[in-house]
Amino acid sequence: MNIGIDIDDTITYTYENMLPFVSVMYNKNLVDLYKAKPSYQELIKTLPNYDKFVHDTFPAMVKLVPLRPHVVEVLEKLKRDGHKLIFITARSDDEYLGRAYEYSFEYLKVNKVPFDKLVIGSKNKSIDCISNNIDLFIDDSSKHCKAVQRKGIPVIQMANSFTSPVRGIRRAKDWNEVYDIIKEM
Ligand SMILES: [Mg+2]
Repeated sequence: MNIGIDIDDTITYTYENMLPFVSVMYNKNLVDLYKAKPSYQELIKTLPNYDKFVHDTFPAMVKLVPLRPHVVEVLEKLKRDGHKLIFITARSDDEYLGRAYEYSFEYLKVNKVPFDKLVIGSKNKSIDCISNNIDLFIDDSSKHCKAVQRKGIPVIQMANSFTSPVRGIRRAKDWNEVYDIIKEM
C-alpha cells in the first residue's frame, strides 16, 4: 500500500511542544495553557499577530519537536512489510522561512524516520492523496480525515490531546495501534 502520513501531531507532539513558545511570547501561564488545551483554530483567532508568532518561533520550535513513541520502529516495520510511506504535510514556506521542505526533510533524517516521499504545503489533503495514489491516510486532523475519507480512501485518525473523536472515523491512540489496524486490513 501507499500510506499517506501527516507530520505535526501525527508522528510528533508539535502542539505540546508549541505551547511553551505561546507561554513565552504571549506571557501566558503554561499550566493554564496545558489545562485549557486551546485548539489551533482558537489560538489563531485569539492570539494577536499569530502569523508573526509562527514566523518567529516555528522554525526553532519544529527542530525541537519530540516524536511520538514507537513512530520509527512502526514505520520501519511497515517498510519491511512492503508499504511505501509518503508524508503529506500542510507546512508551508510562509511558516518556515521559505524552506518548509528542507526543514521537514532535515527533521525526518535527523530523527531517522523512514519515508519514500515528502509533500509539503498540502492545504487540501484529499487532492494530494489522490495524486499520490494513497491507499491509506493517517492524520490527527478531523478536517483532513473527513475530506480524505469522503474520497473513498481509508483513514486512521491519530488521537491527540486536543481533538475529540469523530463518528465514523477510525481512531488510533498510538502507533502500535496503527500497526495492528494495518495488519488487519
Ligand atoms: Mg497534524
